Amino acid sequence: MEVIVADNAGFCFGVKRAIKMATDTLDRAPGPVKSLGQLIHNPQVVHLFQRRGLEVVGDLDGLSPEETVVIRSHGVGPEVKLQAMERSLNVVDTTCPFVTKAQQYAAKLIADDYKVVMIGDAAHPEVIGVVAHTQGKAIVINTVQEAEKLKFISRMGVVFQTTHSIGHVQEVVGALLKRGKEVRVFNTLCGATTSMQKTAVELAPTVEAMVIIGGRQSANTAQLSEVCRKVNPRVFQVESAEEIEEQWFAGMARIGVSAGASTPDEVIAEVVDRLTRIEPAAAGA
Ligand code: SF4
Repeated sequence: MEVIVADNAGFCFGVKRAIKMATDTLDRAPGPVKSLGQLIHNPQVVHLFQRRGLEVVGDLDGLSPEETVVIRSHGVGPEVKLQAMERSLNVVDTTCPFVTKAQQYAAKLIADDYKVVMIGDAAHPEVIGVVAHTQGKAIVINTVQEAEKLKFISRMGVVFQTTHSIGHVQEVVGALLKRGKEVRVFNTLCGATTSMQKTAVELAPTVEAMVIIGGRQSANTAQLSEVCRKVNPRVFQVESAEEIEEQWFAGMARIGVSAGASTPDEVIAEVVDRLTRIEPAAAGA
């Protein structure tokens, strides 16, 4: 089959940066190196790092002074960094600069006496970290319906989970405007995700199906699938080439591919290779 890969598919700047910082740390740190949560939402990369000695921990309990802990690109709340300092841990902070900006805007809004509303997934580590920068005072919503249920807020400050799509936040902000007197919005969307979504959405209607590659835990991969589905209902999301089933592409000859920000080039290449080998006639048999 003909396979077209969207521009900007795969590793974003923030993930490349986190991987480089973690690699350098493993090369240089004198003792054990721990990652607070999985470094990125990609199982293959996490396994590779585990083999190199990067152990994933859920919290800082049990870490000894002078051990090194890597904070992932999603960031953490200020209380976690404080706890690391109190325990005399060496901290390598790979928080993506886009996430840091969202944390700073949220903290500034609270300091300026705005009620902060964050549009995002309340369970996502990035959102948990941003909310922690508001002393836990931010309200998290993710849908127009949730926005419509909010009580009226006289001074409202709005930030977004960095990986959301522009179309989605525009709809929710539209609903929020009816729930506030003064509504101050900071655009905290990440430029890398926005470009990735744009090129995938341009490609999706020109092909018979889209294959989106990325970890099932990855918020930006889920968003990528969702925006593509709006312009082409045949979207298949996979973590690796092994998950691809020929019958999905029965009768098709032209497939588009894009990948979430934590998907390595090798995984994209394997998926493209697998798809290219599918004979259009065989797929329909
Ligand atoms: S997707 Fe955007 S916010 Fe997330 S790590 Fe990559 S560049 Fe940073």
